[in-house]
Amino acid sequence: MTDPIIVAIDGPAGSGKSSVSKQVARRLGFGYLDTGAAYRALAWHALEHDADTSDSASVLDVASSFDYAISLDPDEYWVRVGSTDVTDAIRETRVSDAVSGVARVPVVREAVNNMFRALVASSGRPGVVVEGRDITTVVAPDAPVRILLTAAPEVRAARRSAEVTTQDAATVAAALHKRDASDSAVVDFLTAAPGVEVVDSTHLGFDQTVDAVLDVIRTSVPTQTGAVHGS
Ligand code: C5P
Repeated sequence: MTDPIIVAIDGPAGSGKSSVSKQVARRLGFGYLDTGAAYRALAWHALEHDADTSDSASVLDVASSFDYAISLDPDEYWVRVGSTDVTDAIRETRVSDAVSGVARVPVVREAVNNMFRALVASSGRPGVVVEGRDITTVVAPDAPVRILLTAAPEVRAARRSAEVTTQDAATVAAALHKRDASDSAVVDFLTAAPGVEVVDSTHLGFDQTVDAVLDVIRTSVPTQTGAVHGS
């Protein structure tokens, strides 16, 4: 079987990356790989073990017992650590607040990146939409479709605060900008690398953003994605 086509999508929190990538995968009959979930699950695992997520040595210590699994089915999304379903738990603010500490450890990044490549290769799908922060640049720099999905900071903050109902808008915005600042010290996901197509969703609704991404894919790999025309 030939290797799946990789659609690499990077972008900051609140750009619409996850929901758009999932919908694009559905429309194409592709798999969907949420790479942020691995970092979140490792942060969850570290918190379960009372590890200090700001300390690389502690993170590496708990990483050795990290048993991770994720679904690539856009219609049946789940994330597990060992036998525990952590699909919802990894979205908690305590995990969001800890995740950057885990994600900045180079050995961790290398290990999860290899895992992502293996998950894509064994997906059994004609293609996989892989979303994250460094997919277009590090995980799959040779992907035939590479997209940076952006949106103005205030729009991203507003979208995220609509999702998080347990905190007020100002708190959510502050946490998002803090996480962006920590994350962008590790990978630059705010500027497009050469050859990466920018889709700015600031003034686009959900369906329009999905269509804009599908347009880029159709242009980049027209023969393999003919199915999108009829969907
Ligand atoms: O995409 P999401 O917000 O779920 O990502 C959670 C965190 O995982 C990010 O804040 C970042 O620290 C890390 N991440 C990363 N590289 C990726 C995907 C996510 O460092 N490719």
